[in-house]
Amino acid sequence: MIAYMLARLPACLSGALGLLVAMAVAVVPSRAQSPLTPSETLAHERTLLAESFASARLEVWQKRLNLQGWEISVLVSRADGLRPKTAGNVHWDPKKKTAVIRVLDPADYRLPLAATLQDIEFTVVHELVHLEMAPVLGELQRTDANRMEEEHAVNHMTEALLKLDRGR
Ligand SMILES: [Zn+2]
Repeated sequence: MIAYMLARLPACLSGALGLLVAMAVAVVPSRAQSPLTPSETLAHERTLLAESFASARLEVWQKRLNLQGWEISVLVSRADGLRPKTAGNVHWDPKKKTAVIRVLDPADYRLPLAATLQDIEFTVVHELVHLEMAPVLGELQRTDANRMEEEHAVNHMTEALLKLDRGR
């Protein structure tokens, strides 16, 4: 299992997400007899929304990156479940071809919800690009310097892909 650190500049924003957010909100089930306070309920619904949004985007990007041979899932994690100052990670098993991507819970973002979801999508694509490179980089002797180079390269590719996808 390999964990990659995600260190990057804040993700770019776009207006294309409004519809997606509205659609995703509609499928979050209401919690009739919730023992939670209203703000906890809101936080919980945002976590569920992030989970369904990230899974939907994962499906799209997994196909685009030709990673259908992998069984990949997404988990929403609070900041204390990730390395400090990271917004996600990926762990994979090259033999079983399974991977788990963790994305940061909206509760730990200081951004409006639409921008938060865009950043979560950035994390999903970023981690998939790492996975794409895994067969090449798996044998590489790891140093802090080449890890940082990989992070920069992965970020540049992710930015380019999302820019194309978002039409900017
Ligand atoms: Zn990374």
